[in-house]
Parts: sequence; structure tokens; C-alpha cells
Amino acid sequence: MTRIESLIRNIPDFPKPGILFKDITPMLGDAQALAEAVEALRAPYADHRVDQVVGMESRGFLMGPALAIRLGAGFVPVRKPGKLPAATLSESYELEYGTDSVEIHADAIRPGQQVLIHDDVVATGGTAMAATRLVQRLGGVVVGYSFLIELSFLPGADTLRAVAPVHSLMRV
Ligand code: AMP
Repeated sequence: MTRIESLIRNIPDFPKPGILFKDITPMLGDAQALAEAVEALRAPYADHRVDQVVGMESRGFLMGPALAIRLGAGFVPVRKPGKLPAATLSESYELEYGTDSVEIHADAIRPGQQVLIHDDVVATGGTAMAATRLVQRLGGVVVGYSFLIELSFLPGADTLRAVAPVHSLMRV
């Protein structure tokens, strides 16, 4: 097991019964693992043009800006409804029970910009797909997805692969 893998903590039944929560905070708190993780996230895209890294609230905000700096890109937050102060676009996505939505600033991405979408964990892929639609509505081109952890018992990443390559540091 790598240093990064050994520092991802499994928390059963958080935030509700039946969920095995992947807690990345021990990895974030380890200087060597943190640096290795940023480099490993960057590696697949080192030779690509990435103009913007889009990170999803809230754990996509932890590594996203560091990844953006290493790629020479900007960082754009995708947030839960009502958090972004200027004009926004919104996209809804299905949950097990009901729907949720995410927002982006309407001027955050310029037409033709190449975008990498990042989060800590991909589960159903619903959040990343909603972010994809936001980027595309602004004229951006999703060139890839970058996750620390892919829950491979769910089809989320496969849905995203139809849009652009998916790179995950760990598949569990
Ligand atoms: P999804 O839209 O189903 O792919 O869910 C992705 C979002 O939920 C991400 O923002 C993750 O941070 C969070 N998430 C889903 N499952 C887990 C899990 N088992 N552990 C930690 N975070 C999770």
C-alpha cells in the first residue's frame, strides 16, 4: 500500500448508516503524502493544456487549487445553491431520494477553455456530471476528470468516461 492509501481513513456509517466514508484528512495532514498526491493528480495531465480546474464543494476545494497551480491553470468552484454571490448557472442531478443542484458563476469559464473536473471521491458520478453540464453550457471543453478515490462498485466513473478520460489515484 502506498503512503497516500495508508492515510485514507474509512469511517463506517458516516454521515448516515450504510455509508463507508472515505476521510482524506489524515493524508492532507501528512506533508509527504500531500505533496505526492498533488503530483500524482497532475501527472496524467502534465502534457495537456488545462485552462481551469473545476472543484466541487466542498472537498474538491482542498486539493483543486494546488492541482491548478501545478498545471498552470485557474481554479473555479462549483458550489451548493445560494453560496456564489454573482450571477450563476444551475444544474440539478438525481439522488437516491430526490434531487440536488450545483451552481457555477456565469463568467467563470470562457468559451473554448479546457477544463479538468476534480473532487476527492467519485461515487455515482452525479455531481461530476452536473459540473460537466455547467462547464459545457459556458462553452468550456471538459478534457478530463481527476479524483483521489473512485468507488468502483458504482458505475459513476464509467458514465464520465463517455465524456473524457477519468484518472483516480485509488479504486476501491
Ligand atoms: P456522487 O455525486 O455520487 O459521485 O458523489 C460524489 C460526492 O459525494 C463527492 O463530493 C464526494 O466527496 C462525496 N462522497 C460520496 N461518497 C463518499 C464516500 N463514501 N466518502 C466520502 N465522500 C463521499
